[in-house]
Amino acid sequence: MTESTESTESTESTESTESTESTESTESTEITEAAEPTGSVKPAREKAPKVSKEIVYSLSRASRCSGCDRKLVVGEIVKLEKAEEDREALCRVCSKLDDLELIGKGNAKITRLATKYSTRSYVVMKWSEVWKTYERLGILAEPRAIDKAEAEAQVKLANREKKP
Ligand SMILES: [Zn+2]
Repeated sequence: MTESTESTESTESTESTESTESTESTESTEITEAAEPTGSVKPAREKAPKVSKEIVYSLSRASRCSGCDRKLVVGEIVKLEKAEEDREALCRVCSKLDDLELIGKGNAKITRLATKYSTRSYVVMKWSEVWKTYERLGILAEPRAIDKAEAEAQVKLANREKKP
C-alpha cells in the first residue's frame, strides 16, 4: 500500500514538472515572437514625420503681429504661439514663412511632391465658423519644390502666389 502510493506520487510530480516546463517554454517563445513585430514598427514610425510638419494658420479675424506690430488681415497666414487664447500671431515675415508659397488643397499630387522636395513645409489650417473646427487649407512649401512638383506631375497650378 505504502509503495504504490509513493510511486503514484512520484509519477504525478514528474508529469506536472514536465507539463510546467513545456508550458513555460511555449510562453517564452510566444513572447519573443510578439515582441519582434513591435520592434519593427518603431523605426517605421520614427521615419514617418520626415521633416518638421508644423501647423500654421490662416487668420479668421483681423489681428496684429506680435513681432512687428503690423496689422494682419483675414486670410493672412500666421504662426500662432502656444497661448492660443491670447491669439499671439506672428506674421509670415516674423515667423520666417515669407519665402514659402501656399498650395491650396485639392492639388493632392502637387502637394505630395512639393512636400517631398521641400526642406520645409507647413500644413495650413483655417478655422471654419460653419463646422466649428479647423480645416486644412493647404500647405506651405518652397517655390523651388513646387516648380519641381509641377514639372514632375505635368500640372500647372492655376493660382500660384505671386512673389515680389
Ligand atoms: Zn511680424
